[in-house]
Amino acid sequence: MERYSGKSVMKGIAAGRLAFFKKQEYIPRQETVQDTGAEVQRFYVARQKAMQNLEQLYEQALASVGEEHAMIFDIHKMMLEDEDYLDSVARMISEESLNAEYAVTATGENFAAVFAAMDDEYMQARAADVTDVSARVVRILAGIGDDGIQAEEPVILVAEDLTPSETVKLDKSKILAFVTVKGSTISHTAILARSMNIPALVNTDMIPDESMNGRMAVVDGFTGEFLVDPEEDVLAAKIEAKNQWIAGQEAMKALIGKENVTTDGRKVKLYANVGSVSDVEKAIQADAGGIGLFRSEFLYLGRKDYPTEEEQFASYKQAAEMMGGKKVIIRTLDIGADKQADYFKLEPEENPAMGYRAIRICLDRTEVFKTQLRAIYRASAYGCIAVMFPMIISKEEVVAAKKIAEAVKTDLKQEGIAFGDVELGIMIETPAAALISDELAAEVDFFSIGTNDLTQYTLAVDRQNQQLEPIYAPYHKALLKLIKLTIENAHKAGIWAGICGELAGDIDMVPVFMDMGVDELSVSPANILPLRKCIREL
Ligand code: PEP
Ligand code: MG
Repeated sequence: MERYSGKSVMKGIAAGRLAFFKKQEYIPRQETVQDTGAEVQRFYVARQKAMQNLEQLYEQALASVGEEHAMIFDIHKMMLEDEDYLDSVARMISEESLNAEYAVTATGENFAAVFAAMDDEYMQARAADVTDVSARVVRILAGIGDDGIQAEEPVILVAEDLTPSETVKLDKSKILAFVTVKGSTISHTAILARSMNIPALVNTDMIPDESMNGRMAVVDGFTGEFLVDPEEDVLAAKIEAKNQWIAGQEAMKALIGKENVTTDGRKVKLYANVGSVSDVEKAIQADAGGIGLFRSEFLYLGRKDYPTEEEQFASYKQAAEMMGGKKVIIRTLDIGADKQADYFKLEPEENPAMGYRAIRICLDRTEVFKTQLRAIYRASAYGCIAVMFPMIISKEEVVAAKKIAEAVKTDLKQEGIAFGDVELGIMIETPAAALISDELAAEVDFFSIGTNDLTQYTLAVDRQNQQLEPIYAPYHKALLKLIKLTIENAHKAGIWAGICGELAGDIDMVPVFMDMGVDELSVSPANILPLRKCIREL
């Protein structure tokens, strides 16, 4: 048995086979093949598999987001049926003795260039599709799964590190747990593990590689242990502990439908943090009173181009409808820093956490912001939606963001498109915002305190840097003073204040925040019932 230890970011125990996560940036090398006939055959087998995948993706998308959005997979399938495309790949292999991976990539690039040079906008947009579908075939040829996982059964994923955009692309139904060498417990990848409710370890002292594929392992999110090839008795003991944990979680369900009220009658709202529509289901199962933070930027990650207004509208509408009239607070795009999408073409920065991100981008690229706000306002006709702006540092930013929201509402009115009453709030996640929260309170309907960033900016400690974890101290007096001040200023102005950073889910902090008079705590769905239990015993 090999024994490793990591930092747990999510409790729980998982036992299963390992799969090594291969990075997606696979660039095929040009190679010469001898048996060109066999190579052409290998290409056709991969293409067939890609067609089957696309068929499945079409069916899934049809069921979840409707035909309009599912069509894209049909278009990709048609590309793989195109005679010119197929001839080009086959000729490169048979006439130039090139390997299939290289021939498909080169063909994809040539076709993309032709599409890009066309006058018609629709045809130009197909350039990205032909590149995408070629990459799919290449991944199959290279034995890399669609999302980096090569397994039929759910697995424990091991990786050097996982970026947020890689994590959002993972097929969640295939993952029992994940273990990485890098990463901090407050990174967005860790936050995603919490929202997926699967055990996860970061900062683990292993050297992952493909030799781990298929080996049996246990991840213990309580102890931080990662055991590869565990002895039978060790495995049995861990499975027993896992069963007990599951029984504990089942017992917790008795709290569903109960109020979040202390023994002396103080109430607080318990909402859920989500990163996607699929997390909303988990929030409902956990009996969340609402969605306190919908991290909308995850809709922008792991893709080749901006999500359209329609795509976003479909997601926000679905979330609002699923929550059946309970509040859904959508945080507008908080892209930048660790959350990167290539198509935004953001310049590399020396200090990205303090750089061009979130509201700064939105107030600059107003078309992107307006598209999102239109989608949000349109969805507000289908439930109770609120909006909040991230990374605010000044009143001017709030005024500017509100002005754009007003312009969007005016446009919708003129177009005769319905929208509901939308509360407007801001995140308090910079010391500047906390310190001028009296002034900001006059501009908005609520505050939501983002302790993850507020901690990093108050203490000047990078939340991504695993080396600094020992001094990333969310219990620091300076931070608690800022939280208290923010809540006081909210109440003085007659608005409510919640906390949506990871600290909101810390059981030890519940009495402190209740004392400060917090109105709402928004946490990962898995934390809601444990927090309710704690509050009811206070
Ligand atoms: C925060 O900063 O506390 C927060 C909730 O936002 P994020 O973790 O997505 O930066
Ligand atoms: Mg933040």
